[in-house]
Formats: sequence, C-alpha cells, structure tokens
Amino acid sequence: MTIERDGDRYHLTCDVCGGEADESFCDFYDAVDYKKREGWKSQKHRGEWEDVCPECQEAGES
Ligand SMILES: [Zn+2]
Repeated sequence: MTIERDGDRYHLTCDVCGGEADESFCDFYDAVDYKKREGWKSQKHRGEWEDVCPECQEAGES
C-alpha cells in the first residue's frame, strides 16, 4: 500500500493518478482510518497492494 512516511508524518498517495490526500497523518492508523472514511480502496494489482482514491475508482470501473 502507498502510505509513505516522511519524517514523522504519513502521506497517502493514489497509485493511479498519483494524487495525495488532503491530509497528512501522524499515525499510520490515522491514514488507514482516513482511507475508509473517504472511500479509498486497496486493491491488488500484479501481486502488490495499491491505494486508489474515489475519483479513480469511478473512472476505472464500469
Ligand atoms: Zn486517483
């Protein structure tokens, strides 16, 4: 998954569009909470977990 650590902050990045979440997080689990709350999805792609923002989910699914 793409929750990246930058110093003492965690940043959530969409693996499709590369967009970053509006918020950064001081705790890994805050980032996970944000994902659930805002409708981000984790999906497995070529054996790796990707994080996909709500906008890219709508674009990608029929
Ligand atoms: Zn996206």
